[in-house]
Amino acid sequence: MGLPFAKKDKISVAWVTFACSEDSSILFLELLNQHFFEWIKKLEFRHCRMLKEKGNSLDDIDVAFIEGAIATEEDAKKAKMIRENAKLVVSVGACACTGMPSAQRNVFDEKTKEEIRLVIERFGHMEKVHPIKDIIKVDYEVPGCPMDEKIFLETLERCFKEFGVK
Ligand code: SF4
Repeated sequence: MGLPFAKKDKISVAWVTFACSEDSSILFLELLNQHFFEWIKKLEFRHCRMLKEKGNSLDDIDVAFIEGAIATEEDAKKAKMIRENAKLVVSVGACACTGMPSAQRNVFDEKTKEEIRLVIERFGHMEKVHPIKDIIKVDYEVPGCPMDEKIFLETLERCFKEFGVK
């Protein structure tokens, strides 16, 4: 059986963060330290703000890793744009996969919701905070708070396989 995507030597990846505490980003950096010499041959970081300030682009992405939940219309729009430009989308961490714990305000009682209404409106937040899959199609999920490193590595391997990266 053929590969789902055209074979590549390297895959272009984006690491994008929405509403969250970014702890999976820290884990990813630690993994990058451990796997640097292997991954440098297999990954091209097209968008990763923790690695580079300039030259980040969300065009023509093979795999987009998305951390965090969607809390604003602006973020929802950006997520849709990423989906259009990425062959595979991976939700990373509990906030991205389930919305929680970033989505705690969804379950506030009415009195507490009223107390934060001004802030919600002032910063253009949506009525509810959403996991990524509420907004766009997601191909793989890496659960955990922060992400489960073993599942992340397994998922990355699956991505390499889909593009025939050895
Ligand atoms: S899943 Fe947990 S560690 Fe990751 S961003 Fe959300 S709260 Fe932070």
